[in-house]
Amino acid sequence: MVIIMLGAPASGKGSVAEILSKEFGIPQVSTGDIFRKYISNGSEIGKKANEYMTKGELVPDEVTVQIVASRLEEPDVENGLILDGFPRTVNQAKALDELLAKKGKKIDLVINLEVPEEELLDRITTRRICTNKECKAVYNLKLHPSKVEGICDKCGSTLEQRDDDKLEKAKNRLIVYHRETAPVADYYKDTGALYSTTLSVSINRMKDEVAHDVIEYLKK
Ligand code: AMP
Repeated sequence: MVIIMLGAPASGKGSVAEILSKEFGIPQVSTGDIFRKYISNGSEIGKKANEYMTKGELVPDEVTVQIVASRLEEPDVENGLILDGFPRTVNQAKALDELLAKKGKKIDLVINLEVPEEELLDRITTRRICTNKECKAVYNLKLHPSKVEGICDKCGSTLEQRDDDKLEKAKNRLIVYHRETAPVADYYKDTGALYSTTLSVSINRMKDEVAHDVIEYLKK
């Protein structure tokens, strides 16, 4: 089963993908996480990706598609995967169709998380992430705060704000989202694979509801 998570930064893609990954026993593949891993390893791809990520821009399609192509060769995705943060451009979506076709696979479902425009910037800038790379739990200062400020409920590590979640970079990421990524939803509307749902108010309550809806939808 191949599921695509679409949505603006901080719309809840990763949180919903995590629930679906557990439910269906298929891995969650986040291109943002893959790039962050390359950056912390100090690799050449990481250095290249970092030039774009620090500005809130998209990493060029050829680099990103190559990374996903390699990931699709790994054995753990044989029975499917949940792509979180890819595709982010119509060109990436077309490249993905080709990559999947070569492997005899196709997209089963595209989930588009829609958040009211006026909430978007606030959701990005109030997001906090656990610094423990094994945990990476996600909080939000307003919607889903940790019990003790700055400390992860799950593992006790400190929480931090992602550099690209800071105000100026977040603003640019939203501009890029509207210009490059929002059209991807239209691309999928034509294929009939788009299951669109609205995620707003409380991420915590809603992410479970969204995941539940999707699970029921796929079971039918
Ligand atoms: P994310 O963790 O999904 O918010 O991604 C963080 C950053 O990684 C993005 O702002 C981009 O700079 C880069 N990135 C992640 N996925 C992609 C993609 N599919 N295409 C281009 N850049 C990406």
